[in-house]
Amino acid sequence: MIQNFKELDKEYVANTYGRFDLLIERGKGSLVYDETGKEYIDLSTGIAVNTFGVCDDGVKNAVLAQLDKVQHTSNLYYSEPCILLAQTLCERTGAKKVFFGNSGAEANECAIKVARKWADDKKGFGHSKIITLQNSFHGRTVTTLSATGQDVFHQHFHPFTGGFVHVAVGDLAAVETEMKTGEVAAVFVELVQGEGGVMPLEKEFVQGLVSLCEKYDALFMVDEVQTGNGRSGALYAYQKFGVTPDVVTTAKGLGGGLPLGATLLFEKVQGVLDVGSHGSTFGGNPVACAAALSVLSRIDDVLLKEVEEKSELIFSSLSGAKGVKSVSGMGLMIGVETEKPVGEVLAACMEKGILPIKAKNKLRLLPALNIEKELLEKALNVLKECL
Ligand SMILES: *Cc1c(COP(=O)(O)O)cnc(C)c1O
Repeated sequence: MIQNFKELDKEYVANTYGRFDLLIERGKGSLVYDETGKEYIDLSTGIAVNTFGVCDDGVKNAVLAQLDKVQHTSNLYYSEPCILLAQTLCERTGAKKVFFGNSGAEANECAIKVARKWADDKKGFGHSKIITLQNSFHGRTVTTLSATGQDVFHQHFHPFTGGFVHVAVGDLAAVETEMKTGEVAAVFVELVQGEGGVMPLEKEFVQGLVSLCEKYDALFMVDEVQTGNGRSGALYAYQKFGVTPDVVTTAKGLGGGLPLGATLLFEKVQGVLDVGSHGSTFGGNPVACAAALSVLSRIDDVLLKEVEEKSELIFSSLSGAKGVKSVSGMGLMIGVETEKPVGEVLAACMEKGILPIKAKNKLRLLPALNIEKELLEKALNVLKECL
């Protein structure tokens, strides 16, 4: 059966993905099953999306209850789940307004538009440059590819959107040189570079960026598409860096498995988007927002403490283990540099029933925030056999 689906996939689905040789048919929590019934411990949650694992009762019930009311209304009307979710996000972060889209790339597009309009409103034409970091990842639209600081993404799709400068991680002097041109509207960074190999930024660097933004009147914006929604061990990772951003984008884990993106607008930019300046047909979909309300209601101090404990468990179990060169990351977003080629390790993992993914040349672990400790320990033991 898998062979048949493999062939159909190749024939009918655009061949943009290098897929694992696995069809996940169903699951519960952190256990998933292929079509033959083989069990796997899920260590990647659909790339940090299934915050509470597969088929979680809380998310499922919230979704079903909303489906019994209305599945979509468009943004021409008021929508209760959308309003309540925006309120929750604002109350829990200090943001003033939220714009909803359906993905990380869209959340980032919105942030970029906000930065440009903020600069245009305030300073006029010619101040719209955005500084991002080398080795970053911000999405797959033409503009978010331009924001992405990796040359491999700057091919084939010319002309790319202009106005982005990519600066090396840690290089505050280069940031200041750009700032001095007076053309910079914003600095936009991931606090832990996810696709770039699960690399946290240094706190001093992040605080340095914020100081430069203040000094030169630019916005500080963070891409928390992957780090957000409890993944880092805080509700949003910026809360661990002692900074307050002007814009926060998030997506992946927000909808607990449903597509949802959000752009959080803090005080300085709360009035930038006005009627007609931005929009999205699906954005703020009631079912996705109902799922997100359920997810956020469970990301409390108790859960975040558990995330940190499980993070420490992973770090202590893998740091210095045989076959491990280094372990990096934050919360339940962890990169493992292996001695063996990562492809080999991944194949062994799948064979033995655990499902990590990769980030660049590293193994990447993104387990459900509520993964049972015993299951995590079991997965780590299997992983160590594969290393
Ligand atoms: C995944 C990711 C994106 C893109 O999100 P999509 O939902 O795939 O558009 C953007 N930024 C970061 C940091 C991501 O991890």
